Amino acid sequence: MRWSLTIAEVRGIRIQVHVTFVLLIAWIALSYWQLTHTVSAVLDGVGFIFALFACVVLHELGHALTARRFGIRTRSITLLPIGGVAAVEKMPDDPRLEIVIALAGPVVSLAIALALYLFLQATGSLVDLAELGVSGGPFLQRLMIVNILLAVFNLLPAFPMDGGRVFRALLSLRLGNLAATRVAASVGQAMALLFALLGLLYNPFLFLIAVFIWIGAATEAGTAGIRYALADVRAADAMLTEFHSLAPGDSLAHAVQLTLAGSQKDFPVIEGEAVVGVLTQADMLRGLQSLGGEARVGSAMQAAPARVAHDQPMTEVLDRLQETPARLAVVMDGPRAAGLIDLDNVLELIRIQAARSARRL
Ligand SMILES: [Zn+2]
Repeated sequence: MRWSLTIAEVRGIRIQVHVTFVLLIAWIALSYWQLTHTVSAVLDGVGFIFALFACVVLHELGHALTARRFGIRTRSITLLPIGGVAAVEKMPDDPRLEIVIALAGPVVSLAIALALYLFLQATGSLVDLAELGVSGGPFLQRLMIVNILLAVFNLLPAFPMDGGRVFRALLSLRLGNLAATRVAASVGQAMALLFALLGLLYNPFLFLIAVFIWIGAATEAGTAGIRYALADVRAADAMLTEFHSLAPGDSLAHAVQLTLAGSQKDFPVIEGEAVVGVLTQADMLRGLQSLGGEARVGSAMQAAPARVAHDQPMTEVLDRLQETPARLAVVMDGPRAAGLIDLDNVLELIRIQAARSARRL
């Protein structure tokens, strides 16, 4: 996520803090200072937020490390003022695994609460709930309560929150992935509206969470639609087969000529039979600006382009396109470049598939 600082790394997963999180800490410190004018109260308030977010990291690690047991990687966990976000690379196709991964976070939160409860009881410092306020009472007992709230709140069926993921996975056992995601996203958005209303009345953070859920639900429904449209399509069906290629020794001026003469924007760079790079329009413009028209394609291109097999499923090709900066994949037929796929091809294909399936109905 942009504007994030990496503060730690746990088993290859970057733990990041978003800059807005620093603003939250400043805001908490300021409001405690205005309320009490004592340094100890400020330290207690800020310390509590740090402890709470450490628990949030453990919750997200619960998801991430469970996903890893099923071979799914997580790139990063980012702390935002409204909670943590784990960037899990993709959700498993098996709904039962998704349920296990979604439940792992709340289970961690409840386990922390249970451990704190046992500790407080063993030390005889458990306070009666009636005497416990949001900002009063023993530190560890407040931490116990918020961990319980964290688990319960996340288990509400507001997709894409944890409870919503469980709900979607259960639905998809009966309805299939696309319909289940659409239903879960609609329910999630309805709950987001409710949260937004409650947030406006009582708590601005709840309003922010509502916005987050709304956008998340819409994005996931859109992605599910795209994956459905691409389900049976292979790279060879979507690739551009009429294209020009460049050699590393060609001049950038030659690339300019090809660009102006046709509609192709990005070119594979081929040496002999081997694909050695790609020259996108952005690379070409950057090269013209810094090196001039006489410079070689080889010095302006991106080496190591994304290569996909011609029988590779389009859903996998889409993943590769989103990972590579060039947003362009070379489709290989054996050692030979048989075609090109960029995001425009994919969008075109989705529109065609949508028109076809509309006709079938
Ligand atoms: Zn969670």
